[in-house]
Amino acid sequence: MIFDTLTDVETFYKSYAHEVGFSVRVGQHKKENDEILFKRYCCSREGYRQESVKKVSGESGKKRKSPNVMESRCGCQAHIVVKLDSDKKYRIYSMVEAHNHCFVSPDKRHLLRSNRNVSERAKSTLFNCHKASIGTSQAYRLLHVREGGFENVGCTKRDLQNYFSDLRTKIKDADAQMFVAQLERKKEVNPAFFYEFMVDEQRRLVRVFWADAICRKNYSVFGDVISVDATYTTNQYNMKFVPFTGVNHHLQSVFLRAAFLADEKIDSYVWLFKTFLKAMGGVAPHLITTDEDASMMAAIAQILPDTAHRFCMWHIMEKVPEKVRPSIRNDEQFWERLNKCVWGTENSDDFVSQWNSIITDYELMENDWFSNRFAIRESWIPVYFLDIPLAGMLRTTSRSESANSFFNRFIHRKLTFVEFWLRFDTALECQRQEELKADNASLHSTPKLMTPWAMEKQCRGIYTHEVFSKFQEQLVAARDHCIIQGISECEDIRCFTISSLTRKDRVVHMNKSNMLGRCSCKLYESYGIPCRHIIQVLRVEKQNEIPSIYIMKRWETRCKRCVLYIFFLCLFCFLLYRPTILLFRFTGNYSLMRKVTY
Ligand SMILES: [Zn+2]
Ligand SMILES: [Zn+2]
Repeated sequence: MIFDTLTDVETFYKSYAHEVGFSVRVGQHKKENDEILFKRYCCSREGYRQESVKKVSGESGKKRKSPNVMESRCGCQAHIVVKLDSDKKYRIYSMVEAHNHCFVSPDKRHLLRSNRNVSERAKSTLFNCHKASIGTSQAYRLLHVREGGFENVGCTKRDLQNYFSDLRTKIKDADAQMFVAQLERKKEVNPAFFYEFMVDEQRRLVRVFWADAICRKNYSVFGDVISVDATYTTNQYNMKFVPFTGVNHHLQSVFLRAAFLADEKIDSYVWLFKTFLKAMGGVAPHLITTDEDASMMAAIAQILPDTAHRFCMWHIMEKVPEKVRPSIRNDEQFWERLNKCVWGTENSDDFVSQWNSIITDYELMENDWFSNRFAIRESWIPVYFLDIPLAGMLRTTSRSESANSFFNRFIHRKLTFVEFWLRFDTALECQRQEELKADNASLHSTPKLMTPWAMEKQCRGIYTHEVFSKFQEQLVAARDHCIIQGISECEDIRCFTISSLTRKDRVVHMNKSNMLGRCSCKLYESYGIPCRHIIQVLRVEKQNEIPSIYIMKRWETRCKRCVLYIFFLCLFCFLLYRPTILLFRFTGNYSLMRKVTY
């Protein structure tokens, strides 16, 4: 037989072998002047395995664990040798057809080693699955179903796992560089994409920060109250993932920007918040919550001096179980009282008295953790920041259920940057899809009105469904439960005392000239929605509609439409800050970045 190339030889011998029922091993060759003169292909059971080579090396050269390797070799002699002739074609030089073992039956031939390979289809399925945060085992199951049986997949689950593990090893060498190059590509597609990074003396990536155009637009609308959470698991390089989260007009958690930091020193956080400000043209949030991290606290005080800083109450409450003895931990009444004290108290005296009675009743006087949390109560107990605009949203911006499950999808100790990015990108698309769905519902459907009042109809046309539902709750409560007990006047201010059936009496001070009222329940300050008491007072004042002064832009269905000018302003600021990026631009194929490793 005559073959043009060695590939033809291999294909021929393998198809023969797989038809008969044995596996092929590619053997030695003899080379001269870059030409292979002889090449041997043999039965995979040829020879005997030596003890010392029982450990199999991966493609990367890394030894894989191979416990209990079964002996598959039995000294079989079957083989072919091809020789290159003067006409530059290969001819069979020697051949042994006989095997000293039985053949593999047809139903098992897809398991023959040389009959298996990870096909392009399998690779593409694996890639797509990892984008959707689905692991290799499940990817294999999907392939099995899609191809109609194991024999059609072309490889085993172990082959797919080995392929992925080899790929990760290859990626690891260029991971940080690929990540930074990916960020650069994003920016090339859309110049409003912002990123910055820093490398150390060994050119290792130690800090990276990014925000895409939508993140930046979201920040300009929803960046008043944000949460920065540095408590997520680190990645493969022990780098901290630090996401910035806010709340959108549908009361959903919204991703605003993120960073990876190699350490939690003050310097790193100073860099983080400086870069954060740079990305938004210097616009700082008015309230920021973080976990109890001293470095982050110091950096915020330095870089965001006008921003109110509070600790995330979820993080603190999450630690309670490990700080109390088991009998308390399992006591439902303790939790009921503690939650009521932390979340439900209406003034500081109320809080202090409830806290003290819990500490006494459960004998926690000697517990340092509780004493310290009490000492910093003004930094985390909601009752102490009722006056900070929108501080009521802290419950949502803090480590809420939805933000937590969103980030946990792509934060994993074993993940490389490249894997992280695949997962992150998909998860972000899903989050944005949820916002689009909510936008669509708010724009193209209408909630039922519960009163004939004009202000209800007015707000239905302005607020998103989610915010309107909160407003409607207040409106109905105003109708059903609020009774004006007394009115007094002092110059421009009219003072109303309002009682309700189940709650405390409230006082509303209403400015007669602009109809701006302040209520002692502070719901408007905390959530940006007029409370039942103000609504009732406005009706008494013969205001059919809610004055525009009470309507916060960030709760409107169309709130994002009015930010274009801010967006262009930010884009302009961004263009001013691009020297680092330009530096890499001039180096063509990112030769500088090539040295960025981890
Ligand atoms: Zn054989
Ligand atoms: Zn009120």
